[in-house]
Amino acid sequence: MTPRPETGTADASAIVVAGGSGERFGETGGKQLVSIAGSPMLAYTVRAFDRASSVSEIVLVCHPDRVDEYGAAVREAIAPTKPLVAVAGGVTRQHSVERGLDATAGDSSAIVVHDGARPLVTDLLIDAVVAALWESGADGLVVGHPSYDTLKLVEEGVVLGTPDRTRYWAAQTPQVFRAEVLRNAYAAAFRSGLAGTDDASLVEAFGGTVRMFEGPRDNIKVTVAEDIAFVEAVLAGREARP
Ligand code: C5P
Repeated sequence: MTPRPETGTADASAIVVAGGSGERFGETGGKQLVSIAGSPMLAYTVRAFDRASSVSEIVLVCHPDRVDEYGAAVREAIAPTKPLVAVAGGVTRQHSVERGLDATAGDSSAIVVHDGARPLVTDLLIDAVVAALWESGADGLVVGHPSYDTLKLVEEGVVLGTPDRTRYWAAQTPQVFRAEVLRNAYAAAFRSGLAGTDDASLVEAFGGTVRMFEGPRDNIKVTVAEDIAFVEAVLAGREARP
């Protein structure tokens, strides 16, 4: 098992996945470079990882047609202080993370995976989750929150049931893992053909222990154009109350 690094060591590799087509966003060119207060959205996401003291390198996974464009836009906006490499993603998010894993340095003890489309992540949240991974003894930690809404099981518009919402959490990113566990889980999923919509589900299927880490309510995934107004409002609020 990978040893726990010394406290304060920048030792985690970050994989920021921005390789989706952004179809639901409904604007040509997708959402990753949409301008928020003069900077591309993806730059806010990557800046948080550049500032996080637990992170040693950033792998930015981009849509295959836009690797140079995304890489250049982020570099121009934030002039990163850490090694940053832009690589091409795959057909699904899982394929994109796989490509990201291949591009990481290979000797980090933790890997943080994050959606490029969650620009409100902060360096404080990233550092807190990485520290909590080692404190918890778990194989992986998922940022999320208990379900605020009542959930319905629905088929073709008909409600089939109402599960007990106190047992359900919304899972977001960042998700942080012991590096060798995540690599092994991805390799096992590749062999068995298992597909998951997040990274933790592959680690769970591999038999790893995953814990939830309660995060802030504003860590949304920008999906439709209306989400941008929310991001702008939160960023303006942070500027006003640093
Ligand atoms: O599609 P979904 O909303 O799950 O996407 C979450 C994140 O994964 C987004 O930041 C998106 O750009 C990324 N993604 C990717 N490669 C894909 C599909 C999604 O990197 N093929």
